[in-house]
Amino acid sequence: MLCNIQHFSLHDGAGVRTTVFFKGCNLHCFWCHNPESQSFAPQPAFYAARCIGCGACVDACPHAQGGKTAFLSGNNTCVSCGKCRDVCYSGAMEIIGTDKSADAVMDEILRDRDLYAATGGGVTFSGGEPFLQPALLGELLRSCRDHGIPTAVESAACVPFTVIEPLLPLIDTLFCDVKSMDSQKHKAATGQPNDLILQTVTAAAANVKELIIRTPIIPGFNDTISDVGAIAAFVAALPGGPHHFELLPYRGICDAKYTALGIPFEAAGLSTPTDETMQSLCAAARQRGVDCTVNTSIV
Ligand code: SF4
Ligand code: SF4
Repeated sequence: MLCNIQHFSLHDGAGVRTTVFFKGCNLHCFWCHNPESQSFAPQPAFYAARCIGCGACVDACPHAQGGKTAFLSGNNTCVSCGKCRDVCYSGAMEIIGTDKSADAVMDEILRDRDLYAATGGGVTFSGGEPFLQPALLGELLRSCRDHGIPTAVESAACVPFTVIEPLLPLIDTLFCDVKSMDSQKHKAATGQPNDLILQTVTAAAANVKELIIRTPIIPGFNDTISDVGAIAAFVAALPGGPHHFELLPYRGICDAKYTALGIPFEAAGLSTPTDETMQSLCAAARQRGVDCTVNTSIV
């Protein structure tokens, strides 16, 4: 199950890339920038600004009620059948999530193979959590390897290392998030403790070609020198290093996605950390002996 395939991406690794977004994640970070990638099931989304009020969706919806589609009536009877999307002339209704075969995905990936070669780019598998669909991910990684296309995987690493291990030889760059070293705080913010993540990242570090650890800096959650210093110390001690450490400032520009999906945005109102804050956190990380940079290109 995929959310989307994005072509000409410049922010998920080297060169020009195609980014394949897997659908489904076992973390539920309250600031998530890709809320459409959390559920494993297809989801309707309604973009009010595009709606021309024609009512075709209501006529097509098998569970419409009170002049509204099942999705917009909010009575939990929507079955994600897509009939509203099929008749929506203006593109205001979408169903996010499609099942695609590895062959169909590779057809899209191969369209840009000349660009990858010319720019040093490749394919990035993101999400959601790609490692929670290991059969599809494995097929795609093997096929990319067969075609000589460089690969990157972005993961929250909340999966047993035994799932990741057989795929590591096929991955050129592995990006793993480490959000907090405080397991209780981690669980409150993401729904899961951090123990499995730290174990998996440690095991992967010794075996992967290139590992980059990323920490999204979320105001009030992990934006102190003590929080970032603890993560930096963990990165510095990982086997197989040195590994690069990136700090990503929280952006908070995803509220429209939450509105379209009809789910509450718990991080609404949080501000983006200032450049000064990011640079001081980065300096604190460097003091722990890691090569750290602030990455402002990820949204
Ligand atoms: S996806 Fe199907 S059930 Fe849901 S609102 Fe659209 S037409 Fe109705
Ligand atoms: S079919 Fe599309 S444009 Fe027409 S009312 Fe429904 S959502 Fe709006």
